[in-house]
Amino acid sequence: MTTTETTTRSTKDYLAQVDRFGARNYAPLEVVITRGEGCHLWDVEGRRYVDMLSAYSAVNQGHCHPRIVGALVEQAQRLTLTSRAFHNDRMGDMLQRIAQLTGFRAVLPMNTGAEAVETAIKAMRRWGYLVKKVPDGAAEIVVANGNFHGRTTTIVGFSDDPGSRDTFGPPTPGFVRVPYGDAEALARAIGPNTVGVLLEPIQGEAGVKIPPDDYLRRARALCTERRALLCLDEIQTGLGRTGKMFAYEHVGACPDLIVLGKALSGGVYPVSAVAGVAEVMDLFTPGTHGSTYGGNPLAAAVCVAALDVLVEEGLPERAARLGAHALKRLRAELTSTNVLEARGRGLMLAVEFRAPVAKAAVKALMKEGVLAKDTHETTIRFAPPLVITEATLDEALDVTIPVLNRF
Ligand SMILES: *Cc1c(COP(=O)(O)O)cnc(C)c1O
Repeated sequence: MTTTETTTRSTKDYLAQVDRFGARNYAPLEVVITRGEGCHLWDVEGRRYVDMLSAYSAVNQGHCHPRIVGALVEQAQRLTLTSRAFHNDRMGDMLQRIAQLTGFRAVLPMNTGAEAVETAIKAMRRWGYLVKKVPDGAAEIVVANGNFHGRTTTIVGFSDDPGSRDTFGPPTPGFVRVPYGDAEALARAIGPNTVGVLLEPIQGEAGVKIPPDDYLRRARALCTERRALLCLDEIQTGLGRTGKMFAYEHVGACPDLIVLGKALSGGVYPVSAVAGVAEVMDLFTPGTHGSTYGGNPLAAAVCVAALDVLVEEGLPERAARLGAHALKRLRAELTSTNVLEARGRGLMLAVEFRAPVAKAAVKALMKEGVLAKDTHETTIRFAPPLVITEATLDEALDVTIPVLNRF
């Protein structure tokens, strides 16, 4: 740890202010970050950390990437918002870049991940009624146990996490939940009124749950056979995180719709999008969907720069190489009998314990200068910015592994 700067604001004062004036819908680690650069963060006391969370993979390109911040600043001084009542001269480049990257005909820009998931739900239902001719109001979408797709009322209504779902009902009808990774269960759930299947290629919030290799391929085949749409939520797994641009590329199961967010802006500004095949996306007509900020020129400039950085810096390849290295080290060097396993794909990694020690372990890691996130009491996620160097990754692992072996 190196001390580079301090501010007059103490951690304690800041936490008291947030507790006094904020709604208490989060329980963050007691660290107050004031600056970020690449894979490093600095707190208000001047301590430096390696970020092993990357804002849930929103900061794949690293904190304050100069090229993305430069695009933001330049665009902010020229034009920030017109609404979609008028064209702006930047959105076209964003649409074209996302369409080319995903290979899909059309892109619909939104802001947050949850909004893009909602957009995909609307797209699937609309296709169901207009093309598949499902009876009005009867459309069903199949989702998975352990899913995380965001926090809107519809989305939490089909969650099986009581903390996310309970007390926010009644749930929106039209969703059927099946065990994740079980193609037989999926086959049984897809009926005549099924318009789509919505899945994460790897479940991030559930604790980096990787399904069997043939799962997505079978989901793809089932959807094609039974005339349902396959929609993959790649908000967390996409844009290089797992060692490919999109996680589905590992198993060759191309969806009809893909949902992107998080790293679509490199953590600089909320940008999300749905991309999909013409048969679905071309069903949107003027007035059927929208967003005041969706596709705004600031978002577009930031998004194009964020995608340029991913491609030009070879970040998916880097995630594949460094992720394999990290996983190998974790598997070889985590010797505590309390560690059940280390798993992951690319730089989307997790260590699972047999006992509920994850929170205590991330607090211990924080004291040693590594910021990671516990989930579901027994799991810690490790997902550094993809720009991390092998040397910094090794330094972080040199600190992390002995700490985890104490638990
Ligand atoms: C983060 C996330 C979302 C929600 O994105 P927000 O921007 O927080 O609304 C949806 N799906 C997945 C898989 C995510 O990781």
